[in-house]
Amino acid sequence: MTVKNALKILEEFIERKSELKKGFLDMNMPWNQGQDCIKELSKGLATTMEKDIQILNSLKMELNPNCGHPENLHDKGPDGNLYCMGCNLDL
Ligand SMILES: [Zn+2]
Repeated sequence: MTVKNALKILEEFIERKSELKKGFLDMNMPWNQGQDCIKELSKGLATTMEKDIQILNSLKMELNPNCGHPENLHDKGPDGNLYCMGCNLDL
């Protein structure tokens, strides 16, 4: 279940980065109301966040491929969810 936990951490990290990006672009925030150079900086930081988010999303795709394993590798986990022993993930 390690991959599953890694995916959960990734998911939360992506969410946090998205929130930060939104904040940098929020025109109601104080850093977007003062000098233009600060606005530019905040826009630049949002772009950096976006690049990070893209990398994290591709990592997520690598960790969570569509399961192509045969059904004999599928089993029910202790929580009752269908589970694949090949990719180590819930289906
Ligand atoms: Zn699988």
